[in-house]
Amino acid sequence: MAIQQKLSLMIPGPTPVPEKVLEALGRHPIGHRSKDFQELVEITTQNLKWLHQTENDVLTITGSGTAAMEAGIISTLNKGDKVICGENGKFGQRWVKVAKEFGLDVIKIDAKWGSPLNPEDFKNILEKDDKKEIKAVILTHSETSTGVINDLELISSHIRKHKQALSIIDCVTSIGACNVPVDEWELDVVASGSQKGYMIPPGLSFVSMSEKAWQSSKESNLPKFYLNLNSYKKSLLSNSNPYTPAVNLVFALDQSLKMMKEEGLSKIFKRHERHKLAISEAAKNLNLKLFADEKHLSPSVTAIEIEGIDAEQFRKSIKSNYDILLAGGQDHLKGKIFRVGHLGYVNDRDIISVVAAIGNTLVEQDKISAQQTGEALKIASNYLGLT
Ligand SMILES: *Cc1c(COP(=O)(O)O)cnc(C)c1O
Repeated sequence: MAIQQKLSLMIPGPTPVPEKVLEALGRHPIGHRSKDFQELVEITTQNLKWLHQTENDVLTITGSGTAAMEAGIISTLNKGDKVICGENGKFGQRWVKVAKEFGLDVIKIDAKWGSPLNPEDFKNILEKDDKKEIKAVILTHSETSTGVINDLELISSHIRKHKQALSIIDCVTSIGACNVPVDEWELDVVASGSQKGYMIPPGLSFVSMSEKAWQSSKESNLPKFYLNLNSYKKSLLSNSNPYTPAVNLVFALDQSLKMMKEEGLSKIFKRHERHKLAISEAAKNLNLKLFADEKHLSPSVTAIEIEGIDAEQFRKSIKSNYDILLAGGQDHLKGKIFRVGHLGYVNDRDIISVVAAIGNTLVEQDKISAQQTGEALKIASNYLGLT
């Protein structure tokens, strides 16, 4: 039976928020032009750079992840620019829409939903572009809609060889979940959002901008005002914001980044890796199929196919019996898959609980034996290092 306020969010955003971060949120706002707030901007900006493993500017916008991606695109490009967009899921599709909306000339590289983008496709098109007409390559690192991670390291190496094209990357469900070394991979524009790996509520988004991206921004003629990143850069020189930021979310950000630093990047990445393996291996043992290509599983969300049961009904049953909220499939995948988010503030108990909940629900529907749930829990425990 459901008990109030004990719902576990196991969706790929919003993600669970630690108590300490909730406490930080629940204070009176302070003036956004005050010295105290400037100090907060200074510290959070430094810590954001640490998280992005970069010396580049990392700007904070009040808006969701989409705002950060749109800001990156419209602050660097020109009307009619030729861009490559990678599309192997709902988010890739969104960036194609945004690019077209702003009059960019889109070359689409796609892959079947559930499969990764093929880095060779990027290499081929970029190598053939002798005239250097391609101005940017836009893609999603971890495709949340399908649970696939694209090989950004390899794709970004092809982009670098082109020299001219900027990389504009949606790292919304990869930053804070797996290694995204912005400087090492020379990523120009990297977007992310607070309600994902950051462990804070929705409302803030982040864009990291390379020197090359700032150079392009000088000529950029796409229409923009609130999301013009040059304004944010200028304000950041005095640890400030061009407009009123979500002050309380910045309190929360300060706290969550401190917690992340305490845990350390490699431990955070390992935790996500263990959780990914525990869930995906347990799911297979429950006779469920992974929707994503097994060699390219996202560190933050696992998409699971379910046959003979409506995935939406399955999710509802898990929510009402176990107080665990899972995500459904989007578009043509609705009813066919469910997605387990394991991003941000997630511990081993959450993983064991969700495996038990999925297993028991399958037992209840006569799909597997109770013993199989036990075996799946054993497998999950092994991957978690508990047994
Ligand atoms: C959540 C998410 C976004 C951002 O969505 P918003 O609703 O605008 O915050 C973008 N890309 C991916 C891959 C995501 O998972």
